[in-house]
Amino acid sequence: MEETQRYSIAYKGLKNGHHEFRFAVDKSLFEAFENTEIKDGACEVRVDLNREESQLVLDVSISGHVVVACDRCLEDCRIPIDFEGRLLVKFSDEVREYDGEVLWLLPGEEQVDLAQYIYESIVLSLPYQRVHPEGECNPEMLERFRIVSDREFSAIEAQAAARGHNDGEWAKLAALREQMISEASVDPQPADEGAGAAKE
Ligand SMILES: [Zn+2]
Repeated sequence: MEETQRYSIAYKGLKNGHHEFRFAVDKSLFEAFENTEIKDGACEVRVDLNREESQLVLDVSISGHVVVACDRCLEDCRIPIDFEGRLLVKFSDEVREYDGEVLWLLPGEEQVDLAQYIYESIVLSLPYQRVHPEGECNPEMLERFRIVSDREFSAIEAQAAARGHNDGEWAKLAALREQMISEASVDPQPADEGAGAAKE
């Protein structure tokens, strides 16, 4: 895969000590990962690689922005990215899984591919809530969602009432409300009772 080459560091020929690398992240990195929420982005990745006798220490900083769907209005929303992390690269004859801190390579390998690490670091640094700043959401979209959710609410309420009393709190509340409404409409019935009494 081309993306793999693009974010790889060929460390084999490096002397012990510090070396700096820079990578530019764009849309193609996110497209390489399926099911990603990230639609686009532009980030600069700086890697300070310290080659030691038996391992590589990579101090990685990523800054820029990505584009995701806003949680509130679903329109494109720019999220700033500012990430700093340390990745250790160690060597082992056994094939070992990357555990989030140490990337294991076989002794014969010549380069370390950072595409996965960079992608995951960007995803992990996204905030829990991805929304436009207050007041910058698309008002038409917000209005559309409000109408839909009002309609959904009435539909759920009607269903719950139809199902009766035994379907959980929701149904109980809905049924109770239904009852109160029908009792309220029964209230003006003293007139009927009067009519009944008159029949006697
Ligand atoms: Zn929004």
